[in-house]
Amino acid sequence: MNLLEGSVGVEDLVLLEPLEQEPLLKNLQLRYESKEIYTYIGNVLISVNPYQQLPIYGPEFIAKYQDYTFYELKPHIYALANVAYQSLRDRDRDQCILITGESGAGKTEASKLVMSYVAAVCGKGEQVNSVKEQLLQSNPVLEAFGNAKTIRNNNSSRFGKYMDVEFDFKGSPLGGVITNYLLEKSRVVKQLKGERNFHIFYQLLAGADAHLLTALKLERDTSGYAYLNQKVSRVDGMDDAANFKAVQSAMTVIGFSEEEIQRVLEVTALVLKLGNVELADEFQANGVSASSIRDGKGIQEIGEMVGLNSEELEKALCSRTMKTAKEKVVTALNVIQAQYARDALAKNIYSRLFNWIVNRINESIKVGVGEKKKVMGVLDIYGFEILEVRELHPITCLGPAPVTCHVSSCQGIPWTKVDYFDNGIICNLIEHNQRGILAMLDEECLRPGVVSDSTFLAKLNQLFSKHDHYESKVTQNAQRQYDHTMGLSCFRICHYAGKVTYNVNSFIDKNNDLLFRDLSQAMWKAQHPLLRSLFPEGDPKQASLKRPPTAGAQFKSSVAILMKNLYSKNPNYIRCIKPNEHQQRGQFSWDLVAIQTQYLGLLENVRVRRAGYAYRQRYEPFLERYRLLSRSTWPRWNGGDREGVEKVLGDLNLSSEVAFGKTKIFIRSPRTLFFLEEQRRLR
Ligand code: ATP
Ligand code: MG
Repeated sequence: MNLLEGSVGVEDLVLLEPLEQEPLLKNLQLRYESKEIYTYIGNVLISVNPYQQLPIYGPEFIAKYQDYTFYELKPHIYALANVAYQSLRDRDRDQCILITGESGAGKTEASKLVMSYVAAVCGKGEQVNSVKEQLLQSNPVLEAFGNAKTIRNNNSSRFGKYMDVEFDFKGSPLGGVITNYLLEKSRVVKQLKGERNFHIFYQLLAGADAHLLTALKLERDTSGYAYLNQKVSRVDGMDDAANFKAVQSAMTVIGFSEEEIQRVLEVTALVLKLGNVELADEFQANGVSASSIRDGKGIQEIGEMVGLNSEELEKALCSRTMKTAKEKVVTALNVIQAQYARDALAKNIYSRLFNWIVNRINESIKVGVGEKKKVMGVLDIYGFEILEVRELHPITCLGPAPVTCHVSSCQGIPWTKVDYFDNGIICNLIEHNQRGILAMLDEECLRPGVVSDSTFLAKLNQLFSKHDHYESKVTQNAQRQYDHTMGLSCFRICHYAGKVTYNVNSFIDKNNDLLFRDLSQAMWKAQHPLLRSLFPEGDPKQASLKRPPTAGAQFKSSVAILMKNLYSKNPNYIRCIKPNEHQQRGQFSWDLVAIQTQYLGLLENVRVRRAGYAYRQRYEPFLERYRLLSRSTWPRWNGGDREGVEKVLGDLNLSSEVAFGKTKIFIRSPRTLFFLEEQRRLR
């Protein structure tokens, strides 16, 4: 029996025979090569990055998908967006769209397609349109400040993003809230070979008119800036100058005033200029090494731009004040320490600016508290780089969420439980309050000076040597397994479908996020209102002794809030897959996709869907599709949907193969579906 004629591969992997890894990959490959990038597993959408503009988007397609139910047209992200939106509007169920996949797999593009679909179908009118515009225009702004070219993706999101879009009872958008997670701020001062800093720096230099450049005291050429010195200044197919104009106009649409935009650009320029502040060794008479600023001009310009006394700034960069109960002690910083302080300052200014921008956008799009609203959340978190040594922040349990069986008892049908991976064990390993890896990291950070990255690792090794999901060189050696791919400073977590290696280098620093009080106080003294507002703790009156929470602790609590938020909503899953490492159209790298399907647990997803009842669908679309198979229902049927389906299946002697739920029909075996499809084809 061949169901595939006329279509490419199976559109829903639930129909795959035999259900194994190889045919699953073959199916994805076949479809990809015919430019069918979307495939379902039930209502989960798999999307394989086409790396080319396919003619399947835009108003015409939006209109089509709006008019049909989920299974009636080819798999498409619009179909998923449509189901989510309709269920929100008509059934009053809050929705969330969970988009996962590694870097470059297409998560951000997917989130934009969902948003543009919803914007196109949800309500009309001037007021509504202006809300839509604001919501959509937040993307170019956040991408300019939060995305960068990496080796994997020319437009890689270097922050995690969750956006709630809020609607009124009719389904018209009211506004929204954006939450951002952990901007990769180390990028501000250092990038890997072949990578760039955040887009905005290049956009500003390329796109600012001569007047603006002079006002900001910037040069157009990127090569003069220490923080942009990776030799890649341009990205193929990316027009920095045009994008700069787009960002400016997007900010205006969102509601930033001209002055606010100017302030934002000034702070951005300030970061670039800080990078050029050169520090020199200076030996004091007593032999203690100290440092000073080599060329006074740069610091002078900075001082003028943000209204700061340049001598005070120099002092803040080159020395550190420690307070004891009785006295203040000022110690000189050596060159290395002063450079560290300068970079810490640049990173902090930039990441706080980013947070400020997100808050400013939220101010424009926020919805009044009293209003009753329905919510659609869209989660776009950074790629999990597989088989890569990672830095601290991607440690998260937000990875591929297991698909839960929704064949619920409320449909009145029994179903078999499938053993499914328990992600809880790993969440515990990372997140447990007292004994998880993040907690250990926080604990180590409380002992500055005494600890180093290697003592942190030693502690993890000691604590987790027996943990099934933890590995390191030390634990491996104890078990006499030698894996030469793992460095001494690494540990590895065995996530459920793949191992991920973390390097502990500078974990402690990153977590501590040290910013000397001298620096925040200096910033707070600036006359520049925006810069000043970014450092509230610099206000001597505010200076509390309480230690700010560490990066790990902040992340943990924001993840907990997010999880709670997501649990209250109906989930819709999009699994993005990257077809090759070269950002090339048409190339399907079997091994690379194989790893991702394992990692995303696709085969398990399909098994879960098939367990008990493989296929379910609401009565109405099912009847529409198959009513031509029975004389009772074709050409005319005046009864109810469920009765119609009973008739069709009864006439075909299939009643024992199915179960009738309250709102849906459940089919036990894909064979039944194959049979139905075949019968349809023969008509
Ligand atoms: P990261 O985790 O690094 O942010 P990502 O999963 O968000 O990665 P995207 O930035 O969405 O990846 O996609 C990478 C690139 O792939 C896009 O810039 C675009 O060129 C291309 N791409 C992704 N999805 C599509 C699509 N549906 N149609 C055309 N091109 C696409
Ligand atoms: Mg992205």
